[in-house]
Amino acid sequence: MQLDSKCPQGPIETRWDRHRFGLKLVNPANKRKHTIIVVGTGLAGGSAAATLAELGYNVKCFCFQDSPRRAHSIAAQGGINAAKNYHNDGDSVYRLFYDTVKGGDFRARESNVYRLAEVSLNIIDQCVAQGVPFAREYSGYLDNRSFGGAQVSRTFYARGQTGQQLLLGAYQALERQIGHGQVAMFPRTEMLDLIVIDGRARGIVTRHLITGEISSHLADAVVLGTGGYGNVYYLSTNAKGSNATAIWRAYKRGALFANPCFTQIHPTCIPVSGDYQSKLTLMSESLRNDGRVWVPLKKGDTRPPSQIPEAERDYYLERRYPSFGNLVPRDVASRNSKVVCDEGRGVGVTGLAVYLDLRDAIERLGRHVIEERYGNLIEMYERITGEDPYQTPMRIYPAIHYTMGGLWVDYNLMTTIPGLYAIGEANFSDHGANRLGASALMQGLADGYFVLPNTINDYIASSKLEKVDGSHAAVREAEASVQAVTRKLVDTKGTRSVDSFHRELGKLMWEHCGMSRTAEGLKLALGSIGELREQYWREVKVLGTDEGLNQSLEKAGRVADFFELAELMCLDALERNESCGGHFREEYQTPEGEAARDDEHFSYVAAWGFRGVGHSPELHKEDLTFEYVHPTQRSYK
Ligand SMILES: Cc1cc2nc3c(=O)[nH]c(=O)nc-3n(C[C@H](O)[C@H](O)[C@H](O)COP(=O)(O)OP(=O)(O)OC[C@H]3O[C@@H](n4cnc5c(N)ncnc54)[C@H](O)[C@@H]3O)c2cc1C
Repeated sequence: MQLDSKCPQGPIETRWDRHRFGLKLVNPANKRKHTIIVVGTGLAGGSAAATLAELGYNVKCFCFQDSPRRAHSIAAQGGINAAKNYHNDGDSVYRLFYDTVKGGDFRARESNVYRLAEVSLNIIDQCVAQGVPFAREYSGYLDNRSFGGAQVSRTFYARGQTGQQLLLGAYQALERQIGHGQVAMFPRTEMLDLIVIDGRARGIVTRHLITGEISSHLADAVVLGTGGYGNVYYLSTNAKGSNATAIWRAYKRGALFANPCFTQIHPTCIPVSGDYQSKLTLMSESLRNDGRVWVPLKKGDTRPPSQIPEAERDYYLERRYPSFGNLVPRDVASRNSKVVCDEGRGVGVTGLAVYLDLRDAIERLGRHVIEERYGNLIEMYERITGEDPYQTPMRIYPAIHYTMGGLWVDYNLMTTIPGLYAIGEANFSDHGANRLGASALMQGLADGYFVLPNTINDYIASSKLEKVDGSHAAVREAEASVQAVTRKLVDTKGTRSVDSFHRELGKLMWEHCGMSRTAEGLKLALGSIGELREQYWREVKVLGTDEGLNQSLEKAGRVADFFELAELMCLDALERNESCGGHFREEYQTPEGEAARDDEHFSYVAAWGFRGVGHSPELHKEDLTFEYVHPTQRSYK
């Protein structure tokens, strides 16, 4: 398959404008004749559904939570980037573009990234107009802080709960449209398959999570804003419910899956404390504005941090990367934490932790300032660990956090199935091999508020969309296939719980396809995951029936998909014989231990096509070209 990214050419500053002008429009009266399905109510799906309805389309919107405003986006803490340059510290659209392309280790499309940086300005205006309570300075201007990979302050925030405040903005806009009857909202409803008719996405099959009813919903286009797949690792910072089922089932219906091995490991999470833990907690990257990361200089130093004198501390990020210091990007910070812990200098009971220390900032600024900036995060840490970060440094360690991979989309955010769009974390996005902090919220809202509502018109206006109904063979086939999988899961009646399989899968993935990878480990993982997947279908025990509420069944379907996705991730990681961003292959590193890219052979997006469970998928490549930010060895020194 020839992948056409549909990226415009010419001066990058005007590409989006010129492209938009070339897109067909649907006149307001005609929009009323069309229905669009939006799956997901996070920042991407919620903003898209509200905006499409505002434009006049009939929208059917789905989420598996009891309310749209419980989408995982609500958990986002630290902030959202925008190139407003309020601080007059040298920021610009071009700098945000540059930082993002470089931060992603030159594995993202320049055109997309430039558009994202450009649209970031509109997002802040839109959210302020909605009443999102961003932090402000004494003057009344919106305040900013810094995130990793940038030397300017461009992160807008609402204490440590930016995602929640932004989501309330999108949710209000969505509720307004629900009130107008323009959006039909389907909470507690899980999409389990995509309906493809004559090669076009025309609907979805869902299971109602309270009644167990399986039904289909038809439309002229389908938008997936269903989030990321970090929970394939079992332990992650994602909400427990986040899963890959929607995008995975779309992949099995023909949508290509891009860069599945590009996963982000966040450097500042509360370390794992035991085998039965089911969730990891993020400590926002914003804390690295004021917190200093260190470990003891000596191996095996078990003294409490307060008894380790200054001269015996190693502020290793500040030492190795003097220009960016504690604000190096996430992949670099995570890898360095692993290195010092592997050297035996890790702290805490497990030795798998480093200190994040607010002492100097408290001395410099006063406790009240730190409390104002990070109060809720500090309280959360104290509740979980029983330690007070105002008195003693926090212990942190990297954890799975975000997935840069996802469904392949063109510049219009359309997947390889005409009429199927993917937005937010669900697409392979604009972050290349490593996302910069505070850029996920920016991308989700850019896609939902500003990009998709422009590009989808072109598809609707230029496609001949015949009327379809539930009696169509493709609808019946998709429903039957969902019913068959659901039945099979409840009928297996094995002896092992879904969670025990998921935990084992997660350990395999963390060990072999986590913070660092080797060809040998990936081959081993591929064998083991395949065996575990087969065992799953023989031995899984799903409690209860398929009628009515059954959370064991919900989980079982999601874990079945994680198995298949995990294999694709390992295969992708094995195929990419280079290190870039979050994908660190131990065989490919510089003498200083940094990621060594191979631009000659791997400057492409790897887009995989499904050919059956247990069969090798087909690899398609979209070559990446860089006209503006020329690939160099990334340096934060
Ligand atoms: C703890 C934490 C903190 C973070 N902090 C920040 C931050 O400060 N700044 C930043 O930029 N990014 C941050 N991120 C990343 C960011 O929160 C996410 O990338 C972003 O919120 C994803 O938004 P989304 O709309 O794409 O998906 P989500 O918010 O995950 O929403 C997914 C939606 O899809 C629905 N859905 C999924 N599957 C189905 C299905 N099969 N059927 C029906 N509905 C379905 C869900 O119900 C939900 O409504 C953070 C992430 C975590 C884990």
